[in-house]
Amino acid sequence: MSNTNMNTPSIYECLLCHQKFSSISLLLRHEKSKHNDNKFIPHRNSLYLPPPELIIQYQNAFIIHIKKRLEHSIGSKSLSIDALPETIFVHLFEYEPTFRYSPAQREYYCEFQGKDGEERLKQILNCEYWNFQQDKTTGYGLNFNWYLF
Ligand SMILES: [Zn+2]
Repeated sequence: MSNTNMNTPSIYECLLCHQKFSSISLLLRHEKSKHNDNKFIPHRNSLYLPPPELIIQYQNAFIIHIKKRLEHSIGSKSLSIDALPETIFVHLFEYEPTFRYSPAQREYYCEFQGKDGEERLKQILNCEYWNFQQDKTTGYGLNFNWYLF
């Protein structure tokens, strides 16, 4: 029988540099200051390569999701995506300049701004007919967050 010692502090390890911390908040602070632009996914190898037909299916679902959320709205939008499987999100966005991953929060982030962002998003989602309202002065932005719980 193992003897559980209640006084042993929980150890939170940074998966990027393997420093250890005694609390999750210290780890989060560390990650924010040292690895804020991190793109490395420690468990990348465990994500299966999605088959093309699955990617297409989710690209279409994603477009509908975005359009719904952007209806009658202008300006910067932040979308939390939980409808996409992790591997699809990573597959679609991991090579984007704004792609980031936080191992401590298990959160992905990707951002598209202005006309260039719109064009790039069209390419990624394989969607030619993309047309939603735009704020003429500030343009618009899209932030995608993908959480894994
Ligand atoms: Zn670290």
